[in-house]
Amino acid sequence: MRTHSADRHLPLGATTSVESIVAGIIQNPNHETPFYVVDVQDILKKHKTWSINMPRVRPYYAVKCNSSPIVLETLASLGIGFDCASKAEIDTILGLGVSGDNIIYANPCKTKAFVKHAFAVGVDLMTFDNEPELYKIAQLHPNAKMVLRIKVDDSHAVCRFSAKFGAEVADAPHLLSIAKQLNMNVVGVSFHVGSGCEDSSSYNKAISDARYIFDLAREFGYEMHLLDLGGGWPGTSNPKVAFEEIAKVCSNALDIYFPEEDEYGLKSSVTIIAEPGRYYVASAFTLATMVIAKRLVTDENGQKGVMYYMNDGVYGSFNCTIFDHWIVEPTPFFLPSPEDEPGRTTTDNQREPLLTTLWGPTCDSMDLIRKDIILPEMQVGEWMLFKEMGAYTIAAASTFNGFQLPELKYHLPSHTLEALQKSPSWPRLAQVISLEEEMPFLDPPGEPLSAVDEIDHLEFIPIH
Ligand code: PLP
Repeated sequence: MRTHSADRHLPLGATTSVESIVAGIIQNPNHETPFYVVDVQDILKKHKTWSINMPRVRPYYAVKCNSSPIVLETLASLGIGFDCASKAEIDTILGLGVSGDNIIYANPCKTKAFVKHAFAVGVDLMTFDNEPELYKIAQLHPNAKMVLRIKVDDSHAVCRFSAKFGAEVADAPHLLSIAKQLNMNVVGVSFHVGSGCEDSSSYNKAISDARYIFDLAREFGYEMHLLDLGGGWPGTSNPKVAFEEIAKVCSNALDIYFPEEDEYGLKSSVTIIAEPGRYYVASAFTLATMVIAKRLVTDENGQKGVMYYMNDGVYGSFNCTIFDHWIVEPTPFFLPSPEDEPGRTTTDNQREPLLTTLWGPTCDSMDLIRKDIILPEMQVGEWMLFKEMGAYTIAAASTFNGFQLPELKYHLPSHTLEALQKSPSWPRLAQVISLEEEMPFLDPPGEPLSAVDEIDHLEFIPIH
């Protein structure tokens, strides 16, 4: 008989929501560490939405955004590519059984040893945006396929990169002539409109600039055949600009500047890729954190308030408040008591709303999660949820002061499990979620059928 430790992952297939998994864990009063619940189905749905809206664009997931094994294994099983920024990221992806030609080394400024390593392991596709990088790669990577990253308008993005990366379009002739002198293989153009892009027209302008470089490159003897649309795609449920809207703008721009067929009906030889990070993971991760200590305060104006000390902070998951400019939204999560009316906890009705500040658990006063928000009064030992915490959170979290990173738990309703079991990488996925391969499904009570449709007909692709 197969048994599963309830603490590693809660009843797979038997649970209907992320919240029920949280409830199952926190009802144990001895559970005092933060954890994420990963909704694997959400990642699959995102992929399906991508494929429907941008069938011409192959995603290369930006590993930096969240490199949790469940994310990487799930995405590898869908046959997508990967954007890596370092030797360690490259090795992680190769370790999944993904071959080097499914990786783009998309860091325009690379360590020499990493370039040598890329050559040794067959990662040939890589970006550049400056002349010294061309000399470096010409010397160390004879098979390099170079992608010129251009600077584009990122003024409408939450995290801007153009101050650090991207060649001015005006400098492209010089870079292409140096590459030619060095006998290098320049295959395409990439850009990044900034992470958390809030203006779809940025993509349109960037795609038209890329067209200009493609045409220019011919003058230097280069017939480019790769266009990389970079990252910036929104991943939360309520972004300022919807993913579908950006996808439409991109598809229209591609039709104009990189049509699938030319006027003679000849198929375009240009491959189009993108490097989505937050798109795939942001909404799939819910963080559960506990109030470990509490202090009532009164400010100089006599205003009363409360400070809670949480078991995760800005040195951990909430580093996103600094590096990703994210304003996180807590939702108190009270366990229902037997006396509650259906759908409502007594505690919701009775708690006093208080001016609240949330601190992280470390001894640093920089470790401030949110200041002066209104929340119902909470007690030590109670929990809050932070939804949509998958992007740039655990990826950059530290264990400063000895606080461990949150564990991952998985929300895998039967139909998601069933879909994943069809994947060639199921044995590896099963290991990640500590399941044995032929685990029988449990029928979830009341699983909405629409959820099944949303991931239906997903194609899993053998990894090689
Ligand atoms: N590509 C590159 C080169 C990046 O630096 C990043 C983010 O830093 C991404 C892709 C992913 O961006 P996003 O998460 O906005 O999709």
